[in-house]
Amino acid sequence: MTAHARRRPRGSLAALVVALVAAAGCVVGGLPEEDGPPPRVPPQSQDPEQPRRSQAQQDRGPGAQTTRADGTDTPEEFQQDMADAQRLAERYWAEQFRASGQRFQPVRRVVTYQRDGEVTCGGQAIPANNAVYCTPGDFIAYDINWSFSAFRQIGDAFVFYLLGHEYAHGVQIRLGIRYSFTIQQELQADCMAGAFLGDSVRAGTLVLDDGDLEEFREGLLAVGDDPDQPWFAEGAHGTPQQRADSFFRGYERSLAGCDLG
Ligand SMILES: [Zn+2]
Repeated sequence: MTAHARRRPRGSLAALVVALVAAAGCVVGGLPEEDGPPPRVPPQSQDPEQPRRSQAQQDRGPGAQTTRADGTDTPEEFQQDMADAQRLAERYWAEQFRASGQRFQPVRRVVTYQRDGEVTCGGQAIPANNAVYCTPGDFIAYDINWSFSAFRQIGDAFVFYLLGHEYAHGVQIRLGIRYSFTIQQELQADCMAGAFLGDSVRAGTLVLDDGDLEEFREGLLAVGDDPDQPWFAEGAHGTPQQRADSFFRGYERSLAGCDLG
């Protein structure tokens, strides 16, 4: 397995829409459809206790914890990256909690959906083309076709960011963090996702390919709020630049950069 940059034609990332589920910690936003019908990904069997191990991990023996994307953009690779991201996030946050003498309860489930309202959170339908952390149910849900489109348009790094951001909302709940404005909660989650990924890279549990940092930046810029969105609005996540800045502050300075740690 060789590290190499993912270079592929990219769709326009402008004109993004951010929806909102009030009971959910977050909705990342929408990406434009690619040309042609959206790719379909078979629903994956969710078994967070038994994440599939990548070939690289198997090759390196049971003790190895390195995760590395192999540069392909197949549904299988997507599902593997999602499972890896979840496993890494669970391990990372368990470690952070342990270091401060607390026990960590992983986010209960990660589920996929394909249609508006197929999954509900606190009685509210979760809309298509989104990813959320649902506070009442303590689960992460993502539209699998939308997420797969983003993975193909932006790159595999986006999957790690997406899962990292939603997982951070679960951690905020566990820490009792509740800011006055949505934007504060969201920018901190971006920062925490950055800290999780930066720390994982520094710890050697995640290996980035050339171009992955640029994919993070592109992904963050893609999910920024519309310029018309007031910063204080319920559901505001931050401008593209604010989101990217927050993520990279966490990436570079770890949790101390996110008012944590
Ligand atoms: Zn969020």
